[in-house]
Amino acid sequence: MQKIIDAHIHLSERRDDALIRFARMNSLRYTLDELMGTMQRLGIEHGLLLSPPMQGASILPNDEIIRLCRRSGGKLAPVITVEPTPREVRAAIKLAEENKREVRAFKVRLGYVKASVESPVFSGFYDYAESQGLPVLFHTGDTAFSTGDLVRAHPLTLDGLANKREEMTIILCHFGNPWFEDTAELIYKHPNVYADISGLTTGQGVYAEKYSEWLARKISEAIYFAGNAEKVIFGTDYPVTRHSDALALVKKLDVDERDKEKILWQNAQRVFSL
Ligand SMILES: [Zn+2]
Repeated sequence: MQKIIDAHIHLSERRDDALIRFARMNSLRYTLDELMGTMQRLGIEHGLLLSPPMQGASILPNDEIIRLCRRSGGKLAPVITVEPTPREVRAAIKLAEENKREVRAFKVRLGYVKASVESPVFSGFYDYAESQGLPVLFHTGDTAFSTGDLVRAHPLTLDGLANKREEMTIILCHFGNPWFEDTAELIYKHPNVYADISGLTTGQGVYAEKYSEWLARKISEAIYFAGNAEKVIFGTDYPVTRHSDALALVKKLDVDERDKEKILWQNAQRVFSL
């Protein structure tokens, strides 16, 4: 069985989790037990766990993400979400320091928070991430709620940061959907910029199959443009996308089998030191 790493998973086991509506759409129980079972069945060796949004404007506290990871028997590694206030930035860095052996990356919720990527509130945190060699994941593209800010979530807003922070590993979540070409240019241009293919499909509409073909074409073309698949990382965004749909998307890519291996685990293993 081939190895797989899922670089984008959410979980809270709380009833006020705002992703429950996606879990329902996908007929998922959205529990640690279900997730562990599915990972085992599909040969997903490791996963990165990110805080889900909760009802209201908040997120699941990062220490609960660390606790859930501890219950996963070494399968899940925490990603610390950094919100744009001086207090939350300090708390995130402190938590990362205290859990250095476990924490694998940070996440910034562009498009959901009232700050842009180059907002000064993040600069101390970027210094820290850069100095520790910890990658930073950025939400990019379409937002899960209609209140999201697409201008701040646009992939091109990362170009300036990547220019200034050449030592920081930047990962664009969701390939900047629907701005696949802009993301292709960023991963081609910057040695330190990557993109994950998580959370691109949800539920089963009339055009679900056509849409998934369109996605496979867009991602394949981005790989042709970049000239290789070194910068593309697999993720599900569980419970937003079902594991079966996320894996079917990789299968549909019109690229070498060796490149699919890179996407499914090799790139993530290298980037997150898993
Ligand atoms: Zn996500």
